[in-house]
Amino acid sequence: MNGPAERDSAQPRVLSLRCRACSATLPAASSDVAFRCAQCGRGWEIEQGELVERPALYIAPPANPSHALLYLPYWSFRASAAAQPKRRLDEGVLAARDRAAGFKRAYIAAYAIHRPTYVGEWGLIYTRAQPEWETRAGHGPQSPGASLAARDAAVVVEHYILAEIDKAADLGSLQVSVEISDPELWAVPCLDMGEFLRCPWSGAELPASAIDDLAEMRHATEERHA
Ligand SMILES: [Zn+2]
Repeated sequence: MNGPAERDSAQPRVLSLRCRACSATLPAASSDVAFRCAQCGRGWEIEQGELVERPALYIAPPANPSHALLYLPYWSFRASAAAQPKRRLDEGVLAARDRAAGFKRAYIAAYAIHRPTYVGEWGLIYTRAQPEWETRAGHGPQSPGASLAARDAAVVVEHYILAEIDKAADLGSLQVSVEISDPELWAVPCLDMGEFLRCPWSGAELPASAIDDLAEMRHATEERHA
């Protein structure tokens, strides 16, 4: 296990980590900070040189997928938001109140994307759509590690929710509260079409070139399926 001094150095990390539950080697690429154990399916994040357990879930695959599935890592948070009007109720304020009440979960991609505001960030799409997914725990599909720290993810998903409420009514006219639960590491499947990835639920597409280390992620997935 690496100590904090080693992790603070500018050199790429070479980690040999083992799952604290089953002792399997964790799939740790150099930029990864969190992983799903390929053997038992439990989730771990490196925090200050220690492995901290994160609830790990995966989404049941879509029926009859047309292409190979690639499971990508997301941070998922239970969310609860409330928006109260500061003054009178008007239509926009009512819409904002309903919009706030509709958020049950917030998501953010835990893998690195180039120019996410241009190509689309699927965590934001999922946060907007609030999909009713069937989640599973335990041994399941292989998924690459997460390069985004859960702490940073929590800050962004709160902004996602605030921005969505702001679309319904100006935040200045509202008393808004957003609560985010502890982070969960989710693996969500998409269709690997080669040049791009397609979300089987929303139909959203992401160019393969927009994802950092996609080749490494594909390789890691294949290797551990074999
Ligand atoms: Zn394990």
